Amino acid sequence: MTTLLIATRNQHKVGEIRAILGARFQFLTLNDFSAAPKVIEDAATFAGNATKKAIKLARWLSNSSLITRHSSLFVLADDSGLEVDALNGAPGVHSARFAALDKNENSSDADNNAKLLRLLKEVPLEKRTARFRCMIALVEINSPAAVAHPQLSDGACEGKILFTPRGQNGFGYDPLFVPDGFTQSFAELGEDVKNKLSHRAHALAKLKDYLSKLPI
Ligand code: IMP
Repeated sequence: MTTLLIATRNQHKVGEIRAILGARFQFLTLNDFSAAPKVIEDAATFAGNATKKAIKLARWLSNSSLITRHSSLFVLADDSGLEVDALNGAPGVHSARFAALDKNENSSDADNNAKLLRLLKEVPLEKRTARFRCMIALVEINSPAAVAHPQLSDGACEGKILFTPRGQNGFGYDPLFVPDGFTQSFAELGEDVKNKLSHRAHALAKLKDYLSKLPI
């Protein structure tokens, strides 16, 4: 069975990725590797950060005695965020630390959402267009060529930013984001609906196709 190491400690992301990819894979996360190196996500693009996370972890793992050399093991790194048109694409790659940009550390979802609402206070609904973007980098452990050239897969989900948070499900900006074609936020719609139309779902659908064609 193919093992995918999801390069995050974000349990919400892990839950979504597992639910979307399904039972064909065995999953590990960074919580299974407490000594894994920390990756500073300072690239200017989602692709740059996803690639950096995947390659750094794959190199660390291939030098580690934790992994048997013949297992079918891939690192899967997701870098994602929200682009708001009225903010010229912000928070973008800074989505996780939007409310603490000067501190270079992640800020809480509540603080990030409050900052977003503050910046959009005067912006009317029709101009509150936004999208979630996701870039996934996949590399195979024990394959030096693959480590240098991860398989990239992207996805986006268009929508609008609400005036107040709504709903209890999901994470991050979900209570403020209404996907096109719906009236409820991602946090109200819940995971089954979100996992069919989200940026992550689109990126993973392409990857699923790629993984299904591998000779494993
Ligand atoms: P990353 O872990 O560096 O990729 O940061 C992703 C950040 O973007 C999260 O902390 C959230 O703030 C935001 N984000 C990414 N995907 C989602 C999503 O599906 N829902 C809500 N917020 C998201």
